[in-house]
Amino acid sequence: MKSYELRCPNCESRIDFGHAAAEATVEHGCPMCGGAITGDHVILG
Ligand SMILES: [Zn+2]
Repeated sequence: MKSYELRCPNCESRIDFGHAAAEATVEHGCPMCGGAITGDHVILG
């Protein structure tokens, strides 16, 4: 099972989650600070 890691450039949070959640975060922003996230900040872990 693949996992993805978000590295927020705004608050420097590191969050692990599944692909669906990663895509939702790219759409809606960082769950911690609300900052914009792009696909470049989601790393396949
Ligand atoms: Zn953030």
